[in-house]
Amino acid sequence: MTNLRIGHGYDVHRLTEGRKLILGGVEIPWERGLLGHSDADVLVHAVMDALTGASCLGDIGKLFPDTDPAYAGISSLKLLAEVGRLLAERGFSVVNIDAALLAQAPKIAPHKARMAENIAMALGIESERVNVKATTEEGLGFTGDGSGMAAHAVVLLERLR
Ligand code: MG
Repeated sequence: MTNLRIGHGYDVHRLTEGRKLILGGVEIPWERGLLGHSDADVLVHAVMDALTGASCLGDIGKLFPDTDPAYAGISSLKLLAEVGRLLAERGFSVVNIDAALLAQAPKIAPHKARMAENIAMALGIESERVNVKATTEEGLGFTGDGSGMAAHAVVLLERLR
């Protein structure tokens, strides 16, 4: 039996005024930010759900309930580091992560490399194992009209023991 495990994560957050926009742990100057219990980092949430999926840890809602005041306003990179710790404890190592952010605006390209570095650093892996990309949805749907942002991520894990 192979020791490889694949996982997929998907997340959506609403855009609202009066919130910071944090994506991949990068604070991007913008007129609105994502609404959520934590810092609402939709990209990191999708990555965490892919990791918990591949390792059969369930999902981030189970690990970090949004009813728990301990997670109010918390940096999602901290939660990601905790997911990384749980994976290591179970003998999993990250082969690679590919994440896609769906956002109409602002321009994400200048920040992608730092987002990948932040994700890699939180997990203690080489940044060449993490790819972050972004696309608009051509003005269509809830990302296109600026109501929110979405993210997908796929990961491959290897079980070492
Ligand atoms: Mg979320």
